[in-house]
Amino acid sequence: MTIAETTVFEALESNVRGYCRSWPTVFDTARGSWLTDEHGKDYLDFFAGAGALNYGHNNPILKQALIDYLTGDGITHGLDMSTVAKRRLLETIRDVLLVPRGLDYKVQFPGPTGANAVEAALKLARKVTGRTTVLNFTNAFHGMTLGALSVTGNAAKRAGAGVPLVHATPMPYDGYLAEPEDFSWMRRALDDASSGLDRPAAVIVETVQGEGGVNVARVEWLRRLADLCAARGILLIVDDVQMGCGRTGPFFSFEVAGISPDIVTLSKSIGGYGLPMALVLMRAELDQWAPGEHNGTFRGNNAAFVTADTALRHYWSDGRLTDATLAKGDRIRKHLTALTENFPGITTRGRGLVHGLVFDDASQAAKVCRIAFELGLLVETSGTADEVVKLLPPLTTTEDEIAYGLGLLTRAVETVRDAH
Ligand code: PMP
Repeated sequence: MTIAETTVFEALESNVRGYCRSWPTVFDTARGSWLTDEHGKDYLDFFAGAGALNYGHNNPILKQALIDYLTGDGITHGLDMSTVAKRRLLETIRDVLLVPRGLDYKVQFPGPTGANAVEAALKLARKVTGRTTVLNFTNAFHGMTLGALSVTGNAAKRAGAGVPLVHATPMPYDGYLAEPEDFSWMRRALDDASSGLDRPAAVIVETVQGEGGVNVARVEWLRRLADLCAARGILLIVDDVQMGCGRTGPFFSFEVAGISPDIVTLSKSIGGYGLPMALVLMRAELDQWAPGEHNGTFRGNNAAFVTADTALRHYWSDGRLTDATLAKGDRIRKHLTALTENFPGITTRGRGLVHGLVFDDASQAAKVCRIAFELGLLVETSGTADEVVKLLPPLTTTEDEIAYGLGLLTRAVETVRDAH
């Protein structure tokens, strides 16, 4: 193995860098589900930019639309000015995403990160209700800015805030307690004037917790949560930053539960090409923002609008991508289930094209990721103790690539077991 030249990263780049430590090489090019490092070694990408590359690297359809736009001197930076690219995207969002699903949402363009979308959603919920408290869930992850961190579970990430994180109260996520959680605690706390729980503005939830360890909420649980919020006048925010854009099969991850959240956050793959972009969708009557009340210089990444629009029209005008995602996901689930049957101490869970291999001995998960890297497969850990190997391949990964990647993963798991 050629040693990568990483001196400048180590000497100059902040200690805060993370993924480059898991994957100690210098990447150069990428195409589809593959990255290539500067020495020409190929890696199959089962991480997909943490969910930002659902359509793969340098997707040729999106790339062509981007090249055409740049060649034509289309607006690149547009604040929140009206542009042709933005008009086209809004029309596509309406025609491809909202109308067919009977969703009556207004569309907000916040700053281009998931955390910024979450901040906007929390601010809006507080403004509209006049309340401050937000209910979040154990093991949740919503981003690294202060508001988003306040509704995030991970203690190490929270500690980085350096100030108290307030106005959020965690509730048990589905499966957190040994007994299936039926909201009896949340309902009681909401209805008891002496519980100490202030009446919340909103509940923020991920339908599958990606960073939290691929924890999958049951559809009945999501429905009960939506009913409880509606009955108590609490706004329901679904953070679809990682699980939206088809990751679990349908475009929105909540569709499977038949619920319509009050507010939805999207980022990561909404830009289509890995270009930064985020959206907040809100029920029309909740759009009580004053002009400019939540703003940001990079809300108008028009290049991302072009690739977002192309991705929505190309991949979401029919149900083919959803069907293919569910079929590939099924294949992964079967493979992983068979793997766990052969290896005591490992379990699996997932939905669509997000799956986790959960190790009783957390240290084994990191070892599997390291060996997978050496074999040419990029997978990362998630979960409280980094005990989960998370599989997040681009949705466009072919059946053959899925089979190949699962083969590499199995070899990595076997190597860790044999070394034990
Ligand atoms: N919400 C969820 C569910 C996420 O998974 C993430 C990122 N992993 C975020 C918000 C934050 O997004 P960003 O890193 O773009 O700020």
